[in-house]
Formats: sequence, structure tokens, C-alpha cells
Amino acid sequence: MSAAQAPQAVPAGGKGPEDGLAAFHRRSIEDREGFWAEQAALIDWHVPFERVLDDSRLPFTRWFVGGQTNLCHNAVDRHLAALGDRPALIWESTEVGQSRTLSFRELHREINRMAAVMRSFGVGRGDRVLVYMPMIAEAVVAMLACARIGAIHSVVFGGFASQSLASRIDDAQPRLIVSADAGSRNGKVIPYKPLLDEALELARHSPNAVLLVDRGLAPMIRVDRRDHDWAVQREKHLDAEVPITWLESNEVSYTLYTSGTTGKPKGVQRDVGGYAVALAASMKHIFCGNPGETYFSSSDIGWVVGHSYIVYGPLIAGMATIVYEGTPLRPDPGILWELVARHRVTVMFSAPTAIRVLKKQDPSWLKRHDISSLRALFLAGEPLDEPTARWIAEGLGCPVIDNYWQTETGWPILTLAHGIERTPTRYGSPGMPMYGYDVRLLHEQTGEEVGPGEKGVVAIVPPLPPGCMQTVWRDDERFLNTYFASIPGRQVYSTFDWGMRDGDGYWFILGRTDDVINVAGHRLGTREIEESLSSHAAVAECAVVGVADALKGQVAVAFAVLKDPSRIATDADRLALEGELMATVDRQLGAVARPSRVHFVTILPKTRSGKVLRRAIQALCERRDAGDLTTMEDAAALEQVRAALAGG
Ligand code: ATP
Ligand code: MG
Repeated sequence: MSAAQAPQAVPAGGKGPEDGLAAFHRRSIEDREGFWAEQAALIDWHVPFERVLDDSRLPFTRWFVGGQTNLCHNAVDRHLAALGDRPALIWESTEVGQSRTLSFRELHREINRMAAVMRSFGVGRGDRVLVYMPMIAEAVVAMLACARIGAIHSVVFGGFASQSLASRIDDAQPRLIVSADAGSRNGKVIPYKPLLDEALELARHSPNAVLLVDRGLAPMIRVDRRDHDWAVQREKHLDAEVPITWLESNEVSYTLYTSGTTGKPKGVQRDVGGYAVALAASMKHIFCGNPGETYFSSSDIGWVVGHSYIVYGPLIAGMATIVYEGTPLRPDPGILWELVARHRVTVMFSAPTAIRVLKKQDPSWLKRHDISSLRALFLAGEPLDEPTARWIAEGLGCPVIDNYWQTETGWPILTLAHGIERTPTRYGSPGMPMYGYDVRLLHEQTGEEVGPGEKGVVAIVPPLPPGCMQTVWRDDERFLNTYFASIPGRQVYSTFDWGMRDGDGYWFILGRTDDVINVAGHRLGTREIEESLSSHAAVAECAVVGVADALKGQVAVAFAVLKDPSRIATDADRLALEGELMATVDRQLGAVARPSRVHFVTILPKTRSGKVLRRAIQALCERRDAGDLTTMEDAAALEQVRAALAGG
């Protein structure tokens, strides 16, 4: 039997060859307590837990009950003895042309200072601190200082407009907000303070204090008694030593919003002990990072990847982590690899969207730096199409590992675990179920399991493993009603993604459950059509949506970005290419999948985290309101969609 069939019931009398990952996975499900007790030894516990798992109130789950630990201790303090002088945080900004390296000891000092300042503003255990920051070292210091004193951080992606920020302020009700004068993107200063001031006008809730890092990028107006400068406050606490606040494993470490790709973002609430153990285990089994090495994730602390794999995961593993303020293209398209070379990065994490951006550039950029230190590149966030995966894997000459997960889960659901077994990559597939996740593919209507080659909803049978969300912040009802009530007849966690499993046990993500197109009774994943279009050499990236059609129910409509827009200089060129692309889909998937139109644009509407906003495109195609766009990156992209549609 193949590896990923492991989560299925073992066939009657099934003994099958027990390869590494399958056996590891099976044990994690069949002996959850034994399995996770072993993983729990990867972190420090101040007081040992009494019970590994409390599943008496499913789907609410409590891990490592009674145990006391702390994320900051595990990320920083416990490494001081062995790694004190080794780099812990490497800040690189190509935006302002600065860099800075803090050793574990220096990071520890800064965290103590920040923790002391927070306490001086009355922040204590269980209080919320909202972090609205650019990618600078102080942002990570603020998160870890919260962890140290048991405060709950709520990081809001820097540069979100004031309305998005205001609604998060009202939800989190922070005692303190930590922010900065400005961030910078593509060389352009983005003042944060005016956005924060506006948000605080809009919000019902007011914090006790606002702590501001003044980078000298933009003028700041301070509100008397409310606003304080970090530099001034830090001076007052230079020698501060703030003891760790030990937390029961199930206390709250942070809240974080989902990306808002499909609607109103959900406030994900996470614990302390389960999260620390899950990250430590993933660093060992999946990312294979070792103490003293350097990890580089090009994400942002405003997203879950930033929480798990810029801040906590690498540091818990004793690795240095790179905090990068910049884009993949500036000063040139080799910058990511230049950073890999400069810091001898061994493990890297990025997103398919970043790789697709690079794919539009000269491929020789992949070859100009010595990246021999790099053991693997992990990509997550959206489907990794096969051509992109192949392009980057061949260009870099190291394994490229797709991993599928969600803000809700905190760490990969599907991927490969090279620390357990070197399962070969299959392009287009994010791999196999990870240990701890009892993942199933279920029929949307009947809730029955579907077999290999059939599409189903990717669902997880509770208990969710350590590291996954505890609930929706202050809204248990929403947690139950959103995630556990969509599949008839069974209380399972729905990912709201379609998946499929092949005969060898590799899984595939076919798109979101919202993104399925029903053409004359045929159900098609938008992703399949997108992959087909992307296989055409002219296409850099594309988005396909289902649009209501009187005759067929729905038709597919495509929006494509070309590698070289001059290919469609004339109308005749445009028509010819549209025809070619339709023919490509015809050939690969059949005429039923053929988009009724392929529109050409130079940019697709995306969330700030780089995900295509299909629901907004679809709404425009159907002449509806585009909906909640607060997380959108660039409004001009929607204008292009509008213009393309108007152009006929
Ligand atoms: P919201 O839930 O608010 O609509 P979101 O789902 O985009 O936003 P995230 O938690 O950031 O918020 O994204 C998780 C989703 O991203 C997954 O459910 C899946 O649709 C997609 N995704 C993540 N990684 C992959 C991957 N490797 N392959 C395919 N899809 C992926
Ligand atoms: Mg989601």
C-alpha cells in the first residue's frame, strides 16, 4: 500500500509494506498520545504536562494539559548557553539599504527591554498587543516580548488600510499597539502612522498606549500621553531582565487573521505548548533545519508563514532567521539568491507567486550566486503549478517542496517529510498527509470517503493536531459553524479545498470549494484550467473563474498575464493567441473546459499575501459588487479586469 493511503483505514488484514512516512503517519493517528509525548521532548517544559491530549469536548482540543512552557524561552533563552554568540536574527532591507544581525544574546537583550517597556504600560498575561509593523527587527522583538510576558500578540499586516486595521483593533481590543513611522515597498515610503491614527479614529476601542519605532522615514505626529517612542522607552530599560511568564500549554499565544481570499477574515486563535511542539517537530521532520544554520523565509510577519517560519519555527530550532524587507526583484531579480549566498542559507521558504514573478525574468539570475548551501526550497500559499515547480527546481538544482496548509493549521497538512523519508517529489502535488493530521477526502454531499482519482473535499477528522487553531477568537460558535458544519453527517474540519489522491498516494489540491465551475453538469476545478493555460509558453500566470451562463449554467473565463506583452501588439495577434490558448485547453482537458474568453491583463487582482482574488474577478464578470476588498494588493488590477470585460 502506498504512503498516503495511511490515513484511510488499513484494508482488512492489510499489512502492506511499512515504509517510513506511512508508518510514522499511522502511528501518529493510532497512538496520538505516545507520538506527541515523544515530539514534546523537542521543547523545554517548565512544568511537565499531566495529559498529552484532552479530547473530551471535541472538536475543541487541548494538548499537553497542565504543562507549563513559554515560546520566547524556547525560541531564545534556551539557546543562550550553546548558541549565545551565534546569529539569531538577520535583518536585511533592500528598501532602505540597511542590514543588522543580532546574536541570540543580543536578541535576548532587546526582548527583555521591549518586555520591560510593555510591562511599564501595564501589559500583562492575557492582554493583547497589536503589532502593526514593517519587516524590521523590532517587529520580531515585539512578538517575542509578548510571548515572554504572556501577552497575546495580534499582528496586522503592515500597510493594510485604516479600515482593515480598525476592525482588527476592535476585535483584539489591545492594551498596547506597537507600530512605526513607515514601511517601504518598491523603494516607496509607506507612512504607517497616519493610517494608524485614522484607524484609531474609526475604531471603537482605544489602547492605553502606542509604542512607535521611528525609522526616520516619514514625519510622525505624536498624540500626547498616548504615543511613545521606542528609542526613548528603550533607554529607560537598557538593563532590564524580565523573567519568563510560564503559561499553561493551552493559554493563548496569539491571534491572527486568515488572508481574506474568500470573504471576511477569520480570527484564528492559537495555543502555546501545542504550537511550540508542532513547530519544533516540523523543523526536524519536514524542514530539516539544524541549530547554527540559517533559515530564510521571504514571507511577512503579517501572515501565518511569518509567524511559524520567520519567527518561531527557525528560532525554536536554534537557527538564525532572515527578516527581509524587500521584494524578489529589487535591486535585481537575483536578490533572493544573493541573500542565500551571503548568509549560507540552508532552508528557504517562499510562495509560488514570488517564483512566478521571477519566472518572467532572465533565468540566468538563478545562476549568478553560489547557492550551494541551500538544501531545499519550500513553497506554499497557493497551488504550485507544474511548469513553475519544474522551472525553479531545475534552475536551483535543489529539491523544491510544495506544502499545503492554512492559517488555521499553523503548519503543513500535506507535504513531504524528508527528515523521515526521502519520498520523491511529484510536480503538481504538495505531497502526502503529515503526521498528526487524519486527512480524508470526502464527498461534498454524502460525506463518504472518495477513492483514488476521485475529487473530494479535504477534511480533517478531529482532534486537530498540536499547533492548529483552538477556536475563532472570542467566537466558539463561529469556529463550530464555519469549520465543522459543512459536511453532512459528520463533524469534521473542512479545509474548503478540493483535493484528489493518485494511486501512489500523492495528493493534489484542485482549488477552493468556492472555485469549482459547473459547465453543463461537468465539474471542473479552476486550477486544472489554469494549469493547462500556464503550460503555454507565452503565459506567465493566469486566473480562471466560473461565470453564470444562461445556457450552460457556468462557463470558464480566463485572465492571463503574458511573459511578453508585446506578443499581442495587434488585435490579430491577440485573437490568434486567445485561439491558441483555447486550443491548448481543448487538447489537454477537452472542449468542455475551454474558457469562453481569454482576456489579457498585465496584473491579476491579488490579496496582500499574493493570492489571486478569484471571487472578486468572478463578481465583476457577473456584474456584481466585488465585495470585501480590504486585503487587496493593487486596485489597478481590478480596473484592468473591468477594462478587459468592457473591451468585449
Ligand atoms: P480566507 O480563509 O480568509 O479566505 P485564505 O484561505 O487565502 O483566506 P490562508 O490561510 O492564508 O488564507 O490560505 C490558506 C489557503 O491557501 C488554503 O486553504 C488553500 O486554498 C491555499 N493553499 C495554501 N497552500 C497551498 C498549496 N501548497 N497548494 C494549493 N493551495 C494552497
Ligand atoms: Mg482559508
